[in-house]
Amino acid sequence: MAFPPIRPELAGIEPYGAPQLDVPVQLNVNENPYGPSEACIADIAASVAAAAATLHRYPDREFVALRTALAAYLSRDAAVTPEMVWAANGSNEVMLQLLQAFGGPGRTAVSFAPTYSMYPEYARDTSTEWVAGVREDDFSLDLDKARSLVEEVRPSVVLLPSPNNPTGTALPPEAVVALCEAVGEDGIVVVDEAYGEFRRAGVPSALEQLASYRNLVVTRTMSKAFAGAGLRLGYLAADPAICDAIRVVRLPYHLSAVTQAAALAALRHADELLGNVAALREERDATVAWLRAEGYEVTDSDANYALFGRLADRHAVWQGLLDRGVLIRETGPNGWLRVSIGTPEEMTAFKNALTEVTSP
Ligand code: PMP
Repeated sequence: MAFPPIRPELAGIEPYGAPQLDVPVQLNVNENPYGPSEACIADIAASVAAAAATLHRYPDREFVALRTALAAYLSRDAAVTPEMVWAANGSNEVMLQLLQAFGGPGRTAVSFAPTYSMYPEYARDTSTEWVAGVREDDFSLDLDKARSLVEEVRPSVVLLPSPNNPTGTALPPEAVVALCEAVGEDGIVVVDEAYGEFRRAGVPSALEQLASYRNLVVTRTMSKAFAGAGLRLGYLAADPAICDAIRVVRLPYHLSAVTQAAALAALRHADELLGNVAALREERDATVAWLRAEGYEVTDSDANYALFGRLADRHAVWQGLLDRGVLIRETGPNGWLRVSIGTPEEMTAFKNALTEVTSP
C-alpha cells in the first residue's frame, strides 16, 4: 500500500479551498469587504485580553453566554431560546457535526446540485452515502422531483442552502415545508442560511418554521453579513434534542475561550457589523443589472455574490481578470463564474477588468 496509509477514498484528493492570492481586488470567497470599526476592534481586543488571563483553564464547554447572545440575535427573525442554539468553528464545522451525529455508514445525505461543494465532503468524511438531485435550468427546485428523490432514498440528512451557493437562489417557504414533511422524523432538513441576512425584502427566513417542524435545522454564520470570516464562528437553531445529539459527537471544549470572547464582543456590535448589509444588497442588485445590460445571463441573487454566464471559456475570463488584479471564483456549472460583492471601488475594478477581458 502507498504511504501514508490514508483511507482509499481520500487518496489523491486535493484539499478543498479557493486560491488565497495576494491581489488588490479579492472577490472570490464571499467575504464582507467592510472591516470592523475602531470601537468594535477595541472591544474585541479588551475581551480577548480578559480571556487571556483565564487560559490556564478550559473554556465554558457549554458556551452559555455565547448561546444566549446568539439566541437573542436570532430572535430578531423568530423566537429562539439558548437551548435551541449550538455553535462551532464556522458553520462548516456545525454541518460536519450534524453529519457525524445524523449521517454515518448505512445512511444517506441529499442535496440538489449545483450547490455548495463542501456538502459531499462532509458526507465522504463521515462515511455517509451522498446523493445529489438536480436543480432546474433556472436553479430552482422542482418540489415534486425533490419529494420523489427523498421518498426513494430516505435520507437522514437533507442539506439545502438558502440562498444557494453558488447560484444565489433562495428557497421559497413551501420548499422547506415540502422537504420537512417528505423527510419526516427519520431525518433532518438543514437549511444553510450562511447568506441569510442578504436576502431580498419579502424573502422569509426558515427560522420562522422552526416552531412547526422539529426535524428542521437552520444554520447561520458570522463569516458573511457579520463581517467575521476570520472569527470562525458558525451556529444553528433547532429543537434542543438536536443540540443534545451534537453534544455526543463534539470534541470537548471545541470553542476556545478566545473565540467565545471575540464572538461575544462582535455580537455586542451586531448593528454596526451588519450595518453594511443594505449597501451590499444595493451593490449586488446594481452588479446583477450591469451584468445583464452587458448581455450576460445572471441568476437572481439573495446573497452577496452573483453567478454570471454563459462563457465559452470561463477559465480564460477568470485568468484575464486575475491578470488585471481581480480575483473571482471559477465555480458552479461550466460556463459560469461567481463574483462576490465588494465595495463600489472594487466593483468598478471588476467591471472595468471584465470589459477589457471580453472586448474584442
Ligand atoms: N455554507 C455555505 C453555503 C457557504 O458558502 C459557506 C462558506 N463559503 C459556509 C456554509 C461555511 O462558512 P463558515 O464555515 O465560514 O461559516
